[in-house]
Amino acid sequence: MQEQGTGLRVFKFGGASVKDAAAILNLCAIVKRESERGPLLVVVSAMGKTTNALEESFNALSVPPNGKDWGKYEPKLIKARLFHSAIIREIEAQILPEKTRRLGPAEAIVTYHLENGIPQPLNASQGGYDEGYDRFVSRGERLSAELVQRALLTQFEWEETAHLSAPLVIRTDTTWREANVNWAETERLINKKVPALLAAGARIIVTEGFVGGTDDRRTTTLGREGSDYSAAIFAYCLKAESVTIWKDVPGLLNADPKVFTDTVLYSEISYAETIEMAFYGASVIHPKTVKPLAERRIPLYVKSFLDPAAPGTVIHDCQHPPLAPAFIRKTGQCLISFESKDFAFISEENLGAIFGALAQARLKINLMQNSALSFSVCTDYSERRLGILLELLRGQFRMHYNSDLVLFTIKNYDAGSIEEVITGRKLLLEQRTRGTFQFVCE
Ligand code: ASP
Ligand code: MG
Repeated sequence: MQEQGTGLRVFKFGGASVKDAAAILNLCAIVKRESERGPLLVVVSAMGKTTNALEESFNALSVPPNGKDWGKYEPKLIKARLFHSAIIREIEAQILPEKTRRLGPAEAIVTYHLENGIPQPLNASQGGYDEGYDRFVSRGERLSAELVQRALLTQFEWEETAHLSAPLVIRTDTTWREANVNWAETERLINKKVPALLAAGARIIVTEGFVGGTDDRRTTTLGREGSDYSAAIFAYCLKAESVTIWKDVPGLLNADPKVFTDTVLYSEISYAETIEMAFYGASVIHPKTVKPLAERRIPLYVKSFLDPAAPGTVIHDCQHPPLAPAFIRKTGQCLISFESKDFAFISEENLGAIFGALAQARLKINLMQNSALSFSVCTDYSERRLGILLELLRGQFRMHYNSDLVLFTIKNYDAGSIEEVITGRKLLLEQRTRGTFQFVCE
């Protein structure tokens, strides 16, 4: 049974769907067509590769040991500014001048976010790397949302659209870069703001993905690729009719088409299967996205913005026959092994210390394995976080690590599918359960 909701649908457009003027105009056309069926809340990511650029620029000023590298910081920011300015100029050429005249130059929005508004990176004594990162990198999304609202003037009157500032309604704690949502407060705020905007005549509400804010108005982010999760948060709170993630692939596939040929599209898939795939690293959906939707039985569509009429995938409550094996490849992995210094067995106390240190260094375990004298974990590689871990455990364990590795997962495997991926690879660790085969390799 579908819960009674607001009838609102949530659309999420990722970086690729706003990567240039043509892509944004395509987004506007999709939104226009779909708005015939009712109001939409549109969640957008930063444009193209902006988040990576901002991240690199931030690191140029924040990451020791090289100190502040202004020579790298400034050109990157200037490039990001020119990139956004060129896009909005191209779009504005398509908007009747009388529509924009009252609004002031779009250029000012770009300057505000990427020049005046962009805070200098914080150093450790000013609140730390992670907090500074959130303040800085979130500008990509905030700029994108304002420019997309502006671009919608190609299809709508200004009064028909509204911008909702996500940091004001998505309330989080201060777990910088991976903030946890305060659901009760977020639900209250969203249900105060969104109906008010609709009542004032907005048919399209544009907001930024990826970002939230604390009670004292500091900006947080929800984790890389977190805009999908933002869409789910809004949908949950609004009891939305559905969420659609618009992508450059036809839907949820059994493998990344950039890596594998002969991919299969899942036309229908359950929430549980999707959560597992996202957990293993399928990059199509952010892992936290599905749970809030499953809780309120809100269907999630994955569709192609290049072929909006095609059905894509629907993720909902359903029974389906066994699925084709899914191949999930997670790069940038690091395999760390711990040995006790005195040839003692790895005890529960040792494991407790290792898990505690991993949590403190904020390294997530993607796979682990225990043997008599050593314990191994596979995590996402982060030089900084690994440094913290090694420092914490140096006294207790002998540690080795290899980076630049790949974690492969085959879900719903069969003999043929395993053969297909392991041939010719050097496996450093492997593990098999009834439904899943995983290995780490170079
Ligand atoms: N722009 C952010 C990122 O690239 C969030 C997102 O795209 O979902 O990580
Ligand atoms: Mg992005």
